[in-house]
This record gives sequence, C-alpha cells and structure tokens, in this order.
Amino acid sequence: MTDTHDIAENNLPDGSAADDAALRAQEKQNLSEAGIDLEGVRRLFKQFRGFVATAQLTGLSSEVKPEAEADVALTATFNERLLRVQGEVVCQVQRACARCLTDFSTRLLAEVDRLFVPGPDPAEPDSQQEMVAELTYLPGYRLAIAAVVEEELLLALPMIPLCHPECLGLCPQCGVDLNKEKCLCVETATEGPFAVLKNLK
Ligand SMILES: [Zn+2]
Ligand SMILES: [Zn+2]
Repeated sequence: MTDTHDIAENNLPDGSAADDAALRAQEKQNLSEAGIDLEGVRRLFKQFRGFVATAQLTGLSSEVKPEAEADVALTATFNERLLRVQGEVVCQVQRACARCLTDFSTRLLAEVDRLFVPGPDPAEPDSQQEMVAELTYLPGYRLAIAAVVEEELLLALPMIPLCHPECLGLCPQCGVDLNKEKCLCVETATEGPFAVLKNLK
C-alpha cells in the first residue's frame, strides 16, 4: 500500500531520458491504490499518470454512474509543509437529465489545483495558513490519489444535469418527452402559470 520506495526514486527528477521513458511506461498505470506517504518527507516531486478504476469511485452519488475508469494526470509537489496537487482528471459518467429524466452520457473534466498539509487540522491555524484559502489537512500523513480523484469529480459535476442545453423536458400535463414528440396539451401547459397570475390580478 505504501510506496516510500517509489517516492525516493521519483524525488526531484533530473529530466534525463531515462526518467521520460519511465514516465511513459507508467502511462496506463492503475492508480486506484496509489498515494503518497508524507511522514518524514521534506521534498517531493511525483507524477501520477494512469487511471482510477470505477470500483474506487463509489463515493460519486447514486445518480452518477462512471461508465469507464477515470483518467488521471496529476503532479504532486511537496516542499517542507505544503503539498500541491495539480493537473486533470477526466471521467465519462452517466446521469439522468433533470428535465426529461433520460439517462445520458457526459464527460466530466476536473481541473485540479489543491493544497494539502500533512498532519492534523490545527485548532488555531497560524496567520500564514489563514491567508491560503483552501487547505486540506492529512492527519494520517498520507494522500490517497483515488480519494482526490473522486472529490474532484464530484466538484466538477454540474448542479443541474441536462442531456442537452435546449432540452424541452417532459410535458407537465401528460408526461411525454417533448424532445421526442408533441402532445395536444402543450398549449394548456404553457398557459397554466400565466392563468394563475391573471387570477391574482
Ligand atoms: Zn433532457
Ligand atoms: Zn402533454
């Protein structure tokens, strides 16, 4: 589970051809169990390229179903106290449209830029830390990549999922999918809310 050995190997790369080849070889690496152990580490540069399996993305809500593994390209830089994780996470997911209730496939893209502090959340953060907006504390001194990927995908979810920006939704009267067919009660349905307003006058 821990990969302290890995960290030592990847510590501040010198940019040699051998390092590039090693990175390319890692490209479809399964990162589901990958992480960084930060206890005792002072400096670190580590790249995570690969995927996190759908089985690890169970924290996505029941309405969001990953259709494939999440593609991950993240860089972790640690300098003394702050761990910065930057990069991209992409995942194809299935959701139900909020208007027509049809399941549709959508590509989630999360642009990641997160700051972590190894150690427990201090009761009284010092003034320097208060200036940094979003810090996540790691009481166990370990960053799990799958957990970061899942959190970032959740943050990238649109609040109101739509199969199409112009989705017509369901007829509130008879329930037909107005994207697929027209119904006779459309007129009444659109008049409905205005009729109520007229009555108020
Ligand atoms: Zn729709
Ligand atoms: Zn209708």
